Amino acid sequence: MRLVLLSLSLLFTAAHAFAAEPVTIGVLSHRGDETTLNHWSKTADYLTAQLPDYHFVIAPLDFSEVDPAVGSGAVDFILVNPAIYVNLELRHRVSRIATMKNSWRGVAYNLFGGVIFARAERYDLNRLEDLRGSTLMAVDETSLGGFMMALRELKAAGLNPYHDLADIRFGGTHDNVVMAVRDGRVDVGTVRTDILERMEDEGRIRLSEFRIINQHLHDGVGEHPDIPLVHSTALYPEWPFSKVQHTSNMLASRVSIALAEMPEDHPAALSGNYAGWTIPLDYQPVHDLLRELLLPPYHQSRRFTLGDVAVRYWGWLLGGLLLLLVMAGMISWVWRLNRALAAAKQQLERQQALILDSVADGIYGVGLDGRTTFANYAMEVLTGWSESELIGNDQHLFLHHTRADGSHFPSSECPVFHTFRDNQARYVDDDIFWCKDGSSIPVEYSSTPIRNAQGAAVGAVVVFRNTAERKRTAEKARQHQSDMAHVARLSTMGEMASGIAHELNQPLSAISNYTRGSIRMLQESGLEKREQLIAAMEQVASQAERAGEIIRQLRRFVRKEEPECEWVEPDVLVRSLLNFIQPELRKSGVRVSLDIASALPSLWMHRIQLEQVLLNLTRNAMEAMQDNGGERLLGLRAWQAGEAICLEVSDNGHGIDAELQERLFIPFITTKKQGMGLGLSISKGIIESYGGQLKVRSKPGDGTHFTIMLPLCGEGHGR
Ligand code: ADP
Repeated sequence: MRLVLLSLSLLFTAAHAFAAEPVTIGVLSHRGDETTLNHWSKTADYLTAQLPDYHFVIAPLDFSEVDPAVGSGAVDFILVNPAIYVNLELRHRVSRIATMKNSWRGVAYNLFGGVIFARAERYDLNRLEDLRGSTLMAVDETSLGGFMMALRELKAAGLNPYHDLADIRFGGTHDNVVMAVRDGRVDVGTVRTDILERMEDEGRIRLSEFRIINQHLHDGVGEHPDIPLVHSTALYPEWPFSKVQHTSNMLASRVSIALAEMPEDHPAALSGNYAGWTIPLDYQPVHDLLRELLLPPYHQSRRFTLGDVAVRYWGWLLGGLLLLLVMAGMISWVWRLNRALAAAKQQLERQQALILDSVADGIYGVGLDGRTTFANYAMEVLTGWSESELIGNDQHLFLHHTRADGSHFPSSECPVFHTFRDNQARYVDDDIFWCKDGSSIPVEYSSTPIRNAQGAAVGAVVVFRNTAERKRTAEKARQHQSDMAHVARLSTMGEMASGIAHELNQPLSAISNYTRGSIRMLQESGLEKREQLIAAMEQVASQAERAGEIIRQLRRFVRKEEPECEWVEPDVLVRSLLNFIQPELRKSGVRVSLDIASALPSLWMHRIQLEQVLLNLTRNAMEAMQDNGGERLLGLRAWQAGEAICLEVSDNGHGIDAELQERLFIPFITTKKQGMGLGLSISKGIIESYGGQLKVRSKPGDGTHFTIMLPLCGEGHGR
């Protein structure tokens, strides 16, 4: 409605001044439009006179109309109090072009402040702090000089006015406030500067009736170089005259000059109750005050609540909430998936552990750094190290640090390390592992590389077993075989006893004969038979040596096995055997055919064992030829076939039928009345213990060939 009136007034004015361009000055009207027009029309006329090509008019605006009028550009200039100006400055970019001057008793000033006062006899009220518990009356909650300035001072003095004062009331006008204090209706009042002085001039009050609280200014008597009035607060610039954003700078500067040139006592100034204009002042103090009191335009700086956020950003909030919900759903899904995976992994690990732990062999894993990555239960039992002690530690230092002979075993030579270095599996059949208690166990183990998808080794897995039991069993078997062989040799000797006795008889009777002959020669003659005597005594000595040799061989053959292996030359062995059985051969009328290759390599074995095998085969051959009508021929051959030495014993005896050939090497199989049936099984056992073979080839009625093949077993086993 007011804007409609404003438009009508503009139209009206324009009709009167059709030649000049209309310029509207919006003026805050807090005492009614008529009063405002009365006060300010002369100022508009002054400007029209100064700038004849324009026609200035006043548009009274109440508080609610100021902002829309400036925002819509309905006014070109605006005249409002400093607090409203500061808001317009920020919201609509208005800019001040002049600040109003006031004058009192001929002194002009362009600042104003607040006065806080009580009745003169209130000696208890001197400082702002003394206001605690008192009642205060101000003009209006929106009044800059009549409330806000005092409020700021009270807060600066450490008071919370709404809490520490007994009551705050508002009188509506400055005059009411002064009267209420004077009449004792309130303890303290606050009004803007110049009110008290003017009321005194009007004879309504006397200044001496009041005491000015916090009259804190430099000179101590309320006199200030810029203002001749009593005041209790800081000073702030007076009302500014401002141009709105659309108004041209040219016009603004012309208006500014015209205002500055207005004399203090110009009718326009007198009518407007002011004393001319100065250059515009700095309104920062007003900004500071409003900011401190959290008043517009700074009221939202700390009052921006969650509700405001919700209203302003509801779209984003809703989006964020939805996103959160989706994310929460996904997190929960991933979490559940993860849990299921963890359970499956645990199950797999349990199964794997169960499998590993139920294996009797020790199993452990090794990383590229040589540290143990896992170990099964059997490993703990076999070595005494617990899984927790092994895992993460260098397996070589735990298990492998020293060799069986007590020498240091460097890590660099550890077969397990080599496994993942050359990415090759390896098997070690005879080694030792050290246990936690300091003892060692004999082991055989395999070390296999663990490969990644690209085939590169990322570690190794070692499977090992304690070979102590196996070794004991093998030793037992060997011992048993040795005992059997011994028994067999004794038995053979028993059988050969008469032949041997006969053999011994020969040298003994020769010794006897030669000795008697020698005695006779010594009795019959002197030294002339010396040569014959020497010859006879040499015969005695050699016959005695021969007898001694037979007895030595006999003793060696019947004693228990020699503990150590030795280098055995096949050639020597065959000949010494032949010598041993010579009496039997002779007695049985057997002819020997000897065919021994020259320079045969030696065999690393127990001499007596090979002798026993050959003796056994030879005696069987002789027995098989017993019933031969014609010639009895024993063949003994020795030759090298690749990496093996072959020894063959053959005869032209009755041979062996096919059925017997199949069972020939089974113990206690014999066709002889006195036979034990052990010879061939023992022989086969001996040969095989050296990795060799014993084979038979026979045709009934056409003789038999037994062939021994003994491997040279590489370097060091043959020379
Ligand atoms: P034993 O000589 O005590 O019988 P062996 O194990 O040495 O025990 O021989 C088993 C059997 O094999 C003999 O009883 C014999 O029948 C047969 N045999 C062994 N060697 C010959 C051979 N050269 N010719 C024919 N038969 C043989």
